[in-house]
Amino acid sequence: MEKHYLVLAYYHFVEIENPQKEIAHWKRFLKEKDAKGRIYISEEGINGQMSLHENDWAAFKEWIYDNSLFEKMEIKIHRYPEHAFAKMTVKYRKQIVALDQKVDMTKQGEHVPPKKWKEMLENRDENTVIIDVRNDYEWKVGHFEGAEKPDLETFREFPEYAESLKEKYDPEKTKVMMYCTGGIRCELYSALMVEKGFKDVFQLEGGVIKYGLEEGNEHWKGGLFVFDDRLIVPISEEEEHEVIGTCHYCDCGCEVYYNCANMDCNELFLCCTACAEAHKGCCSKVCIDAPRRRECHVSDHPKPYRKLPYEDKLQFKK
Ligand SMILES: [Zn+2]
Ligand SMILES: [Zn+2]
Repeated sequence: MEKHYLVLAYYHFVEIENPQKEIAHWKRFLKEKDAKGRIYISEEGINGQMSLHENDWAAFKEWIYDNSLFEKMEIKIHRYPEHAFAKMTVKYRKQIVALDQKVDMTKQGEHVPPKKWKEMLENRDENTVIIDVRNDYEWKVGHFEGAEKPDLETFREFPEYAESLKEKYDPEKTKVMMYCTGGIRCELYSALMVEKGFKDVFQLEGGVIKYGLEEGNEHWKGGLFVFDDRLIVPISEEEEHEVIGTCHYCDCGCEVYYNCANMDCNELFLCCTACAEAHKGCCSKVCIDAPRRRECHVSDHPKPYRKLPYEDKLQFKK
């Protein structure tokens, strides 16, 4: 399939005096373009993911780098045959990364570009810990070899987890290597680790996305979970990768996520085609009989029903 769409991931911490004005500016520009995505703007910066037709790329690039707020912003690009989002949303968010406490972002971990990160992985010793700064449904389908995978359902629990790491690893002597999808979560969470007393903290610049684009699959196992219709992507298009996820029902090797067809559950679960058909796209027997069960279209690449659960779960639960 021809891949005429670019899936862009970008973020930038920069003081934005009037976020509403900036939002209006973005909306006006994007309205004319073949673009869909999710863009959050706050007083502290921007966090955006979107898909854009390649014909609009040159105009977008010119427009964005013309804006002095974003002239230093890095944009990571994957190709895809269609839009990776259902609609275009540009909106205000108080925080562009959720963290319930204030951290001093001037005391972050050291940013490590992919090439150096790879060298660090290769030269690590017993005093090095690699921390996957993502949720369980993300690392279940892919992660760096030997990484610590926090068993967290939401990242609000991370501060507590960081505290517990201090019992396992000496903050004075341990070299901490942190990574996340596109780099933004580490910007805050590395500062949190520094605040917790870890002396030697490093964060993968540009996250796994940039690592895959620049260094390929080496030291990475599985695929990469992304917050759009693609759900799971290879980190490198050039090479085949090993599947590490397993079907929720039959345990076969599986890298396909379904949102539970029961609207009131919506749980993300890995499921092979046969099991998805047998269970009508539901995560459990209870969900199959639930009153608000949606029609499930079983395929190799099911799209999430609507917004992803990390944003929508609360809404469903009211
Ligand atoms: Zn199965
Ligand atoms: Zn369910």
